[in-house]
Amino acid sequence: MASKVYRICTLPGDGIGPEIMAEAKKVLAALGSKHDVEFACEDHLIGGSAIDATTEAGEKPTALPDSTLDAARASDAVLLAAVGGPKWTTTDPDKPRPEQGLLAIRKQLGLYLNLRPVRMYPALLDASPLRRDLLDGVDLVIVRELTGGLYFGTHDRQKDVAGAAADGGAGQKAVDSMEYTEAEIERVVRWAFEAAERRPKHRVTSVDKANVLETSRLWREVAHRVAAEYPSVDFSDMLVDNCAMQLVANPAQFDVLVTENTFGDILSDEASMLTGSLGMLASASLGAGTALYEPSHGSAPDIAGKGIANPLAQILSVELMLRYSFQMDDAADEVAAAVTRVLDEGWRTADIADDATPADHVLGTAAMGDKVVEALS
Ligand code: NAD
Repeated sequence: MASKVYRICTLPGDGIGPEIMAEAKKVLAALGSKHDVEFACEDHLIGGSAIDATTEAGEKPTALPDSTLDAARASDAVLLAAVGGPKWTTTDPDKPRPEQGLLAIRKQLGLYLNLRPVRMYPALLDASPLRRDLLDGVDLVIVRELTGGLYFGTHDRQKDVAGAAADGGAGQKAVDSMEYTEAEIERVVRWAFEAAERRPKHRVTSVDKANVLETSRLWREVAHRVAAEYPSVDFSDMLVDNCAMQLVANPAQFDVLVTENTFGDILSDEASMLTGSLGMLASASLGAGTALYEPSHGSAPDIAGKGIANPLAQILSVELMLRYSFQMDDAADEVAAAVTRVLDEGWRTADIADDATPADHVLGTAAMGDKVVEALS
């Protein structure tokens, strides 16, 4: 009997989801025996598979059944794979879509912060579109506010507005408002400082557009107030346009980057390209209650069922879960080290293999999961 039990709500979802989730579970089982912990995983439905199951059961079709939400709330963490696929693609607003399950669960769990680590693996440096010398020492995490800003402001379209048309006559006008409260800013910025205290570079860069936007000026004031409480952390502000440039000119200068919703959306995609490989990126969404961990990629319907998907982003989502939900930093470090080791030994899935990879080093999904488990022991 393990000394501690963690309940994990596992959501395999659609496409390659079940295949990569199986590998994450193998890793959890191996870590459990090593650390005298039981990771009790329970599968639930989300996305297209939930739409199918509720339809078959004669219920109202939904991408997020109540039973899934209840299980997620009752668990210590949620581990999601991916949702979506052509089977459920529709423009009919009355039909449910798999992605609604994802948005709904994030909202219902009150997840207000998303973090995406960007870490370089020496073995994969050639996959990056950036020169090798620029990538040396890159190890950063983007902390993005998730529930405020432009995406959650008022969205309005006005017709027949005098002078709005290109010819000077009446035309349309659109308005999206951007709002932030001090509380919304503070909880995210504080989290960034707490994280920086535990990371080797001890650095926080707060990104805003304070030379133009009032929300950014408030963001900056709050960031400075919080920074004063963390004297051991090296703190600076950066304007978002400069940051977009610095991320490709000198990415190694960053440690924890914290920013509002829209800027974070754009910068995290830009930063993810530093690695050049979608199959390696994990993310965590955190809030006051149960947190959710998932790969940054989608359900890859083009390769689903073929046994060739890269399970590493899913396995690295487990690393984040160990770190941020279970405070098992040692086990998290072991997962990160095992993934690095497997790559250093030359093992690849098809998406990260190149011309130099010998054919016998290109592994399927399950074999790659086995290699990580082997490297853990
Ligand atoms: P995608 O990320 O699923 O795939 C993009 C490309 O990357 C494809 O060629 C795919 O084969 C490849 N790829 C992705 N993950 C991989 C992996 N682990 N191993 C090997 N190759 C991998 O994006 P897409 O094709 O734009 O979207 C497919 C479906 O996924 C859509 O229905 C979309 O809505 C959904 N989606 C879901 C999420 C999510 O669940 N969080 C995120 C993005 C897209």
